[in-house]
Amino acid sequence: MNVIHLGGADCVTGSCHLLQAAGLNIMVDCGAVQGNDRVVPMEKWPVAPSKIDYLFLTHAHIDHIGRVPDLIEQGFVGEIICTHPTKELLVPMLEDTMGFSLRNHDKIQKVADLLDELSWGFEYGKIFNLKNGICFKLGNAGHILGSCFIRFESDHPNCSVVFSGDLGAPNTPILPDPDIPEPCDLLILEATYGDRNHGDRTERVNRLKSILSRALADNGKVYIPAFALGRCQELIYEMDRIFSASNIGTRIPVFIDSPLGLEITGIYSRFSEFWDNEALALYKNGDHPIDFKNLYSVENHQNHVRLVSVPGPAIIIGGSGMCTGGRIVAHLVEGLGSRENDLLFVGYQASGTPGRDILRYCRKRNGYVWLDGEKIMINADVHQLTGYSAHADQKDLINWVNAMERRPREIRLVHGDANARKTLAARLGL
Ligand SMILES: [Zn+2]
Repeated sequence: MNVIHLGGADCVTGSCHLLQAAGLNIMVDCGAVQGNDRVVPMEKWPVAPSKIDYLFLTHAHIDHIGRVPDLIEQGFVGEIICTHPTKELLVPMLEDTMGFSLRNHDKIQKVADLLDELSWGFEYGKIFNLKNGICFKLGNAGHILGSCFIRFESDHPNCSVVFSGDLGAPNTPILPDPDIPEPCDLLILEATYGDRNHGDRTERVNRLKSILSRALADNGKVYIPAFALGRCQELIYEMDRIFSASNIGTRIPVFIDSPLGLEITGIYSRFSEFWDNEALALYKNGDHPIDFKNLYSVENHQNHVRLVSVPGPAIIIGGSGMCTGGRIVAHLVEGLGSRENDLLFVGYQASGTPGRDILRYCRKRNGYVWLDGEKIMINADVHQLTGYSAHADQKDLINWVNAMERRPREIRLVHGDANARKTLAARLGL
């Protein structure tokens, strides 16, 4: 078994690995890069896309699937293998991304049809025979709905490899904790937070609660830029719990102003068999875990335009997560200049994005940011809720490796910056 890294080996985006075994070319993830990260361009791959037999997807985040449309257009006709929920998420996620590319409507439709035709959903925890004596098993990674880690085993010679994909933190809302991995010879392990530990969930929920209650006291709006897949649903879940357990926000409307976020929230709702026990127990008691009385969907553009100018109080969740585009931008253009409003960041803001600029200049006198070609003054209160991560932290990663019955012969760290990989390597004794 030979593993070649074609992206995401030394950075956190663009995940793409090629496993060559038993005469097969098996690709694991084919993600897009963000910011300054780099991947190996397809024309420089050791095998042409048309020669790749299988594409396995660990989950539907764009940094793991974003280049799949290019792969198909470059001649890939193999099978795409993932979990059932990932198959469901694949088309909406990639249709949305392709909407920002140079492809016209017909091209997008053609790729979307091919994606649907080539992809197959599989269950967690079962062994499936692939071909030429190679079998595979998907484990629940607890990172987002449908996320998995993948174990391949070949019989001649007997050899096994596990790709962790992105691992979730224990106690992530809605989802169960990651499964315990079976032993393997080679482990390809993500190291996003290899040098950090997150605060605990209760602390984070308490901070969210206090920010919201203070922010809403003056009847302003609270803007929350959030990624459509994962973060948006976690936020709805936590707010649902906060609102049910206290009297803050009982009459405050919460708007999801993101067509993609709404579609994905619908998929999260439909796949209830993949929820954790806490979410299932709520549901059984008549409290839908990601829906509540004051939660409103903003589907069409007309209603979005209307929402931009209605007065507060209101909580508005919209994409994109780093304010680089999407419906949140119009809200910020309208409301960032008003003192009664608040902006709450719950995710990482990469350098070069408006989100990062807002964080940088919000405390400065006359701080401003460029949004949609306009210079917007930052008078709203800006908060950053750190520790909101769907990723395992350093101790979780170490615990996950130590839970294996036998230590892998080799562990390769990927999906992390240099310091995260170095620190985790030292802690794992590599
Ligand atoms: Zn991810």
